[in-house]
Amino acid sequence: MSLITHWINGKPVDPSGDRTQPVFNPATGAEIARLGLGTAADVDRAVASAAEAFETWSQYSLGKRTAVLFKFRELLAEHTDELARLVSREHGKVVSDAAGEVGRGLEVVEFACGMPQLLKGEYSEQAATGVDVYSFREPLGVVAGITPFNFPAMVPLWMSPVAIATGNTFVLKPSERDPSASLFLADLWQRAGLPDGVFNVVQGDKEVVDAILHHDDVAAVSFVGSTPIAQYIHATATAEGKRVQALGGAKNHGVVLADADLDDAVDHLTAAAFGAAGERCMAISVAVVEDSVADEFVEKLAAKARAVNVTAGDQPGADMGPVITAAAKERIEGLIGTAERDGAELVVDGRGHTVPGYEGGFFVGPTVIDRVAPEHEVYRVEVFGPVIDVVRVSGLTEAIDVINANPYGNGTAVFTSSGESARTFQRGVHVGMIGVNVPIPVPVAWHSFGGWKDSLFGESHIYGPEGIRFYTRGKVVTQRWPHRAQRTEASYHFSGDSQK
Ligand code: NAD
Repeated sequence: MSLITHWINGKPVDPSGDRTQPVFNPATGAEIARLGLGTAADVDRAVASAAEAFETWSQYSLGKRTAVLFKFRELLAEHTDELARLVSREHGKVVSDAAGEVGRGLEVVEFACGMPQLLKGEYSEQAATGVDVYSFREPLGVVAGITPFNFPAMVPLWMSPVAIATGNTFVLKPSERDPSASLFLADLWQRAGLPDGVFNVVQGDKEVVDAILHHDDVAAVSFVGSTPIAQYIHATATAEGKRVQALGGAKNHGVVLADADLDDAVDHLTAAAFGAAGERCMAISVAVVEDSVADEFVEKLAAKARAVNVTAGDQPGADMGPVITAAAKERIEGLIGTAERDGAELVVDGRGHTVPGYEGGFFVGPTVIDRVAPEHEVYRVEVFGPVIDVVRVSGLTEAIDVINANPYGNGTAVFTSSGESARTFQRGVHVGMIGVNVPIPVPVAWHSFGGWKDSLFGESHIYGPEGIRFYTRGKVVTQRWPHRAQRTEASYHFSGDSQK
């Protein structure tokens, strides 16, 4: 059984402790590797190597830094299929979907290739008489990323290209469930010419996370994962004086108004609910449907759900693969079981789903639950599986009220043919990312990604312009070069000199 290692200072490194845990292929249920779980000593080693690399990497010219980014972009594009297969094998998602996740990460790399333009400062000539003022941004130092299982390639690529292109060095703590993508990325960074120590990986669990959060030489922490852990990361790292962005869980609502193109809405919501087995932070897990079209909507949705091709992610024609672990399957099936108890109607029941040839796999079938109410358990928690709740409402105002009463605020969408309704929706919802006839509105890389309320702790969204601000801090220089003959006397009073 192969042991998955760390990557520190440009090479694979075995964990210093002896704790390991299995990594599974969720489609077969078989253990395919063992992961070495890191220790605080491993974090020390990685941070020390990153701190040393920062001394030189932060002094590289912008041109030299972005040359590495351009090369990394080429390698990532060239190896997308290989990386997608690796992701599919440990995560379970369909290979083409995994290639899509690499593609969204690639977009962030391309954004970071433009860093010389994006990092340009501001200059005020003659801000006061003979005085110029200019401002620019500098990297923070060693920054860390702690990432979830559901996007093992994309989420590290939301963080590291922007952190590295702005001159920081990076320590990644990937999910312990699908850790191999992190090492694949480390290898590509090295082949792109990134100096050793700029990108490091420490595998592990809470022990490694805690060592990062309490490490004096880690300046900032980017986290993506579930809400309780996001809250913990934010509180702990903030108390340690670090800059923190902690993106949490979600419960995303897709609203279908009576004037929507119903077939189009059903089509998109089915894919948004069941793609990647619902294990996306932007998956639509609640359809909020106007009463007058709800029966027809549910009928069409149920037909589509039954037609989803559920099988191993590397099989031709697969629409949806397994969920990540046996425990996740058990948890999701348990939550489906609460629906009828709470008074909802189980229209399509995905429990006990088996796939011929993959009997040991962690499969849950697409599930549709109608007449769900906000107090039902299946609505209140993030299921993170292939389950869609249908909540029936009287119209747009009630739909907005339902969304705003939910503690999460990651993404949402409205399906309508009315610009007025779309605008009212966009202005009314307390949610960070909104789609109009677009079910999963993940912003392109030159905007930033982030939710509201329990979906994000900290001020900063991730990647895009907010990512650059997160990974840099400002300096402002006020300068004068007085000609000897024109010297003015210094004043003891603070003066509004700019008006002279
Ligand atoms: P998770 O919170 O269990 O794990 C995320 C990371 O935190 C992992 O690296 C894990 O090792 C670490 N971790 C877990 N428990 C910890 C603890 N007690 N102390 C310290 N660290 C700990 O999340 P997950 O199950 O890997 O991912 C799914 C979750 O991530 C879902 O809630 C999903 O909505 C969320 N997510 C959010 C976004 C977003 O952009 N908002 C994106 C992707 C995933």
